[in-house]
Parts: sequence; C-alpha cells; structure tokens
Amino acid sequence: MVVGAGPAGASLALLLARSGVAVTLVEASSSLARQFRGEALMPSGLEALAAMGLTNLLETVPHRPLQGWRFVLNGCELFHANEPLGGDPQRPCTLVNQPALLEALLLEAQGYPSFALERGEPVSDLLWDQGRVAGVRLRDGRHLEAELVVACDGRASLVRQKAGLALVGSPSSIDLLWFQLACPSPSPLQGRFTTLVGPEGVFSAFDSAGGGVQLGWVLGKGERVPACSRDEWIERMATLSPPELAAWLRQWRAGLGDPSRLAVQVGLAERWWAPGLLLLGDAAHPMSPVRAQGINMALRDAWVASAKLLPLLRSALQPPLPSSALDGVLVAIEAERRPEISALQALQAAEAARGDQLRRQNWLRSGLALAAPVVGPAIAAHWSHQQQPLRQGLSALPMQSVRPGPP
Ligand SMILES: Cc1cc2nc3c(=O)[nH]c(=O)nc-3n(C[C@H](O)[C@H](O)[C@H](O)COP(=O)(O)OP(=O)(O)OC[C@H]3O[C@@H](n4cnc5c(N)ncnc54)[C@H](O)[C@@H]3O)c2cc1C
Repeated sequence: MVVGAGPAGASLALLLARSGVAVTLVEASSSLARQFRGEALMPSGLEALAAMGLTNLLETVPHRPLQGWRFVLNGCELFHANEPLGGDPQRPCTLVNQPALLEALLLEAQGYPSFALERGEPVSDLLWDQGRVAGVRLRDGRHLEAELVVACDGRASLVRQKAGLALVGSPSSIDLLWFQLACPSPSPLQGRFTTLVGPEGVFSAFDSAGGGVQLGWVLGKGERVPACSRDEWIERMATLSPPELAAWLRQWRAGLGDPSRLAVQVGLAERWWAPGLLLLGDAAHPMSPVRAQGINMALRDAWVASAKLLPLLRSALQPPLPSSALDGVLVAIEAERRPEISALQALQAAEAARGDQLRRQNWLRSGLALAAPVVGPAIAAHWSHQQQPLRQGLSALPMQSVRPGPP
C-alpha cells in the first residue's frame, strides 16, 4: 500500500502496478490541484522519469523548458546563465504543471488491474500486528490491511508521526509568500527563473507551465506577513525590478492573486523504515524549495524503491512476504538514498545562506550591482559549475530493468 499521491507515491504505485504487484494508493484529497505544488523538474528528476520509461507522459501535460536563470541586484542584472547550464541539451530544467502530471500518472496506473485508488479519505492511523505495521485506518473508520505500507504523505507526514519516527530538523531561515499573476505570454521574464534582491526584500518569478507567472516573496522565518494591498505588493516587486519588468508588473497589477504563506520545513527522518513501513519523499526528508529539489528527489526515491522491492515482491507469489527479507530491502533503500539527500540538503542550505547574505548586506549588494558588467560573467561561470550536483543529483540512478507485466 502507498499513502499519498504526490510525485513519490503516484510514481511508485504506478511502477508496482505495472509489474503486476497488487497496490492500493490512498490519497487524502479528491483534487490534486492544491494551490502550489512546485513545477521545476531538474535533469535529476527527468533522469528518473526516463528510467521509469515515463518521459512520454511529460508530452501529454502542460510543460515548458526553462530558458535560463537570471539574478538581479538593486534593479540591475548581476548575471544570467542559459539552460541547460553546460549539461545534456536534451535535459534542460523543465517546468511542468504538477497536478496534471500526477493525474497522468494515476490515469496510467488505473490501466493495470492490480492497481486500486482510494481517494478523498486521509489515513488517520496505522494498524499494527505483533510490532509490525499491518495496514492503515482511514478517517471514515475503514481498515485497509497491507504487508507493506509506503508513506509518501509529504512533509507533515502523519504516518511518520504515528510510527514514532522522529524528524531531525535543519533550521530553515525562510518562509515563502506565494502569488500567482494572471497575465498574457510572453512576459519580460523571457522564460528565465529570475531572482531579484534589493533593500525592499527578495523575490523570485518564473513563467508558469500552466500560463501566467508564479512569484515567491521571501519572508524571514516567523516574520509577520506585511499588511499590503495588491497595489502595494506590485510596487514592492516593481521597486526591485529592472525597468521593463517593473513597467510590465504595473501594467498587469489587476491579475495578482492573494498571497499564500508556504511554511518551509527541512529535515531528515532519523530512520526511514520500521517493520512493514517505509518512508519516501518529503515524508522521509522534507526539502527546501531552494533550487527545486523535492519533486526530483521524490521521483528518484520512487525509482530506487521500486527497483529494490520488485524482485522480492515478484518472487513472493503468495502472501505472507518473508518479513526479515522485506525489512532488509527497506534498510537497503534508505542506505542508497540517504547520502544523496543529506548532501543536497547541505548544498541547498549553503545556497540559501548566500542569498540571505546578499539580502542583509547592503554594501555587498551595492558593490556587486556596480561591478556587475565586469564580474557578472565570471560569477555566472562559477555559479553554473556550482549548480551541477543540484541539477544532476550526486550519482547516476541504477538502471535495473523493471519489466512490465505480471510476475
Ligand atoms: C514553495 C515551495 C516550492 C517548491 N517548488 C519546487 C519545485 O519547483 N521543484 C521541486 O522539485 N520541488 C519543489 N518544492 C518541493 C516539493 O514540492 C516537494 O518536495 C515534493 O512535492 C515532495 O513530494 P512527495 O511526493 O514526497 O510529497 P507531496 O508532494 O507533499 O505529496 C504528498 C501527498 O500526500 C497526501 N497526503 C498527506 N497526508 C495524507 C494522509 N494522511 N492520507 C492520505 N494522503 C495524504 C497529500 O494530499 C499529497 O497529495 C517546493 C516546495 C515548496 C514549499
């Protein structure tokens, strides 16, 4: 059984069902279109989709390649770097409408007779049998039994809490205020993920895969949301922007939606498994939004988990599964995935600290803004090099062939 139909859960459930393993996917919400689910797929996530044989699925949902990255200090461009940042030209960072991708994964999974979807009722507790997780209880009181529960229920994972698996948190210094701007394409962002820093604050903006623009305003952790009207928010953003973007923001001010506060949580579960239970994706390791890692890591977790679980699940034709062998596989999955996650969380923290330094130190920001025409290209080259692990992941994924079809 898989709990949660985010990228980790939806892809894992599909991979298991495609191999003939009976799997029930339990998703709390009846609609996956929550206001913001993240859009950026890095080459590391695209590699996972390719390993799963699901690259074609991307073609069926709204998506667009990112054209590059741009950094603006005090309204002046510090540098820009074009995608794919020296990597594989076939795999530029790609923005995808995530709810549409998740629905496409579910639709594909529903084509396999061993797949079942329980949608609209959250898991409210775990079932236990002699010290092993033996299934879940839904909010409506139903019990669903399973020999293995894979918790992919996101950063606030109830399953993780019910299993008593502690989350070791890394302090995040930021929260985000998320806005959507309804506006025509193309925008002056020119398809680049643009980060703007100045005395007024920091925000990022990109052309959304589903149309319009997404804007994330950085708040200090716990900072009160400023009581600004829509016009005041547009002015704050315009003040940080180069003239063409400022004029455009003012022109389309009526399209700015209300902001949502997105609490940023970062951490690593002390252990990703208990007997009969595995944590994956944000449930095991809530990721910071910095340099868009979470969807990608969730997909990579799912691929590694399926590659390690399937030989056992396919060989055990009749239940019960040999529990010691199953728990051994859960240990192996954590051992393979934990190093990449710890290393990338450390790189995200370093990237966030550099941004924070620029936000707080006026003299540094002003000096760099003045020197941008001279130092910009060198900073761009250094930054592009530094980004490689956050784009590609730390190591190539195992390419075990997971043959579709029943065992
Ligand atoms: C502001 C922000 C921007 C981000 N942008 C990006 C980005 O551009 N690119 C990127 O790679 N990452 C991004 N991330 C991170 C990314 O969103 C997550 O890391 C990623 O979605 C994790 O995937 P997941 O499958 O583990 O969990 P989730 O995507 O959180 O999915 C969990 C699922 O479980 C369901 N669920 C929860 N509780 C229960 C329950 N009790 N019972 C049943 N179902 C339940 C939820 O409804 C949900 O569908 C961003 C994060 C933030 C905060």
